[in-house]
Amino acid sequence: MEWETVIGLEIHAQLATRSKIFSGAATAYGAAPNSQACLVDLGYPGVLPVLNAGVVRMAIAFGLATESTVAARSVFARKNYFYPDLPKGYQISQYELPVVHDGRIEIRLDDGSRKTVGITRAHLEEDAGKSLHEDFHGQSGIDLNRAGTPLLEIVSEPDLRSAKEAVAYMKAIHQLVRYLGICDGNMQEGSFRCDANISVRPVGRHEFGTRAEIKNLNSFRFVERAILFEVERQIDILESGGKVVQETRLYDPDKDETRPMRSKEEANDYRYFPDPDLLPLEIGPEQVEAVRAALPELPWQKRDRFMAEYGLSDYDAGVLSSARAVADYFETVAAGVADKKLAANWVMGELAGALNKAGLDIAASPVDAHGLLGLLHRIEDQTISGKIAKEVFEAMWAGEGDADAVIEARGLKQITDTGALEDVIREVIAGNPNQLEQYRAGKDKLFGFFVGQVMKATGGKANPALVNELLKKLLAG
Ligand code: ADP
Ligand code: MG
Repeated sequence: MEWETVIGLEIHAQLATRSKIFSGAATAYGAAPNSQACLVDLGYPGVLPVLNAGVVRMAIAFGLATESTVAARSVFARKNYFYPDLPKGYQISQYELPVVHDGRIEIRLDDGSRKTVGITRAHLEEDAGKSLHEDFHGQSGIDLNRAGTPLLEIVSEPDLRSAKEAVAYMKAIHQLVRYLGICDGNMQEGSFRCDANISVRPVGRHEFGTRAEIKNLNSFRFVERAILFEVERQIDILESGGKVVQETRLYDPDKDETRPMRSKEEANDYRYFPDPDLLPLEIGPEQVEAVRAALPELPWQKRDRFMAEYGLSDYDAGVLSSARAVADYFETVAAGVADKKLAANWVMGELAGALNKAGLDIAASPVDAHGLLGLLHRIEDQTISGKIAKEVFEAMWAGEGDADAVIEARGLKQITDTGALEDVIREVIAGNPNQLEQYRAGKDKLFGFFVGQVMKATGGKANPALVNELLKKLLAG
């Protein structure tokens, strides 16, 4: 039988506020355990939560960027459950009335096709603390620094039909929240993670199959691997006459498999109810418009503009608009050169390659945008050839100074002096009488040989156009 995969993702994006969603405690990553949890986060009696205005602006920004409805009125609810890392006994979330709902985002797949994925809702909630099971000699430690950290939970429609589509969607949301500056997107630190709901159905059937939910996937690769494994598992069960049970599962990257965590029978009854400590969240049109006016250019808008303004291909524009820092770098370089494609090629080629090799983010690049621009100026004014420029770039990367300093110190200036070059060419011709004879007898291919010899004799510094011109003249005799 042919099977179709159905996937919906619940993405948790940690909002980039300095303080928590309902308290003034700091949210900085990596602090000593329990040094960033105040009485509100600890759930002491008598304390009251106060909503952080920053998270509201961030939720509105997300809603606007995804063509969602920003609810004029939404409600915080208590999700009740017991766990050692949740001292209050409930998590404050939004349930029936989320702040953002009914939106969409367009994703692009590797084959160039596009697809619109529905966003069911996005709601504000607080994160729980963390149980630490190592280093405590048979006991567990509890770190409540995370408790009260603001999250935006973004729930997609079950519109995704393959692991690849799920990854493309997750990347699109990841790119968007970073563009909006509402989430740092750091997946190692848990700032961006997702639960994947997965089911399969026979091709052609309308009803969805029973789903399993894979919890807490914190890399694009794990999302892809977990889905591929889970789809196989469900198909195997169904094809051998069994039934998929609705349950929560965990992905184990070491074994590359998913394992049951809890089944529906044991599932919690969260007894949601509106939190009496918090007023409904009311958002007026003026507040929405204020956020709209402050929205940055969005990734797809930037991509379109790069194509129109710089004449870039769809692919190049996509790479160069992948992150704001990359786009800003490129635009600084492009603004200073006549040949925009030259700027694009260098940022996507030498620079991206060097960053990749060194495992560096563009913000930490040893050659900044102005540095690269200085180098490209020397290509454009023919001080150096494109080939020599690569050597100069490497030296700049290694800290030997700016382009002019490297060119000077290493004596890399292109030879554009006709007289000097003619001398070199005459020597080359004189040194290769056999080739000269063959060339003059009609073996045109040998022209390349002479170009190579001249380049070799000048250490690659001869101006290529000039070499061509002079060689033609002198070879003709
Ligand atoms: P819950 O809150 O219990 O996790 P929801 O109905 O809110 O359940 O759905 C959560 C996610 O599961 C959504 O992203 C939704 O698109 C997805 N989903 C729902 N049903 C299915 C299904 N049969 N197969 C795959 N994904 C599904
Ligand atoms: Mg769920």
